[in-house]
Amino acid sequence: MNTKLLDKVNVLKKQRNAVILAHNYQAGEIQDIADFTGDSLGLSVEASKTDAEVIVFCGVRFMAETAAVLSPGKTVLLPDKDAGCPLADMITAEQLRELKSKHPDAIVVCYVNSTAEVKAESDYCCTSSNAVELVKSLPEERRITFVPDQHLGRHVEEQTGRDLVLWPGYCLTHVVITEDDIRSAKQNYPDAVVMAHPECTEPVKALADEILSTGQMLKFAARDTARRFIVATEIGIIHALNKANHHAEYIAASERAVCPNMKLVTLEKVLWALEEMKYTVSVPEAVSVKAKKALDRMVEVLPQ
Ligand code: SF4
Repeated sequence: MNTKLLDKVNVLKKQRNAVILAHNYQAGEIQDIADFTGDSLGLSVEASKTDAEVIVFCGVRFMAETAAVLSPGKTVLLPDKDAGCPLADMITAEQLRELKSKHPDAIVVCYVNSTAEVKAESDYCCTSSNAVELVKSLPEERRITFVPDQHLGRHVEEQTGRDLVLWPGYCLTHVVITEDDIRSAKQNYPDAVVMAHPECTEPVKALADEILSTGQMLKFAARDTARRFIVATEIGIIHALNKANHHAEYIAASERAVCPNMKLVTLEKVLWALEEMKYTVSVPEAVSVKAKKALDRMVEVLPQ
């Protein structure tokens, strides 16, 4: 770790009254300097509870947007303006409006990995931790449209027995993990427990022992007695797992499961973001108010 750089970040962080958030998929050195690490919604909620005036979101754009929606009075900075999420960008608000016109009676549930505009068009927002519970809580007689991740949607279908209107979005980083990756990891480590993220493909999830969000993986690994875990998600989580739970070994199911957007953030860019107060991410008020409603409805049915 470059201590000079780190010292500068810490001095500026104080001067700006800033808080640094790092998603579980960030590079280890970014996770290590963060005030909070975790999943996208959890981080935005934590930041909204602080009296910081500035949020530096080491993650991707939709996460910074969510932080802006939940903290309208704070300045939200994304250290790299190109850090987007291909999954979130697979559906636009216009495409969702079109889909809604085809299924006008359906309740629209959007995964938090979506743009603020798509959230604003949705009735409920959900996370990969609570998608199943949220759908279970909705009236059985109502159709449900689920966007944008088809694999999380299929996991929800399987767990709830409900037939959803799905959008064909997917996360490029999770779909590179193959059945062969899991089979060969199991062969090499027959005693290991396989944890897979719901954004993985169905054949991969079928080979997993547990299907868990990143936050759930951290909790599960802490309480499980296994000495080895095969982890099918973005490899940044291995750093978080090692840091939080020393008792076990964590093996990435695929070294190719790297999100290039998440890795755009570097220590130098965090410092630059604080120096230049860039790049600010804001959400127009009309969109923000509607997007917040979808997030609030989620909390109403599933209190955190
Ligand atoms: S890992 Fe997938 S869902 Fe997460 S930011 Fe990268 S592309 Fe988006």
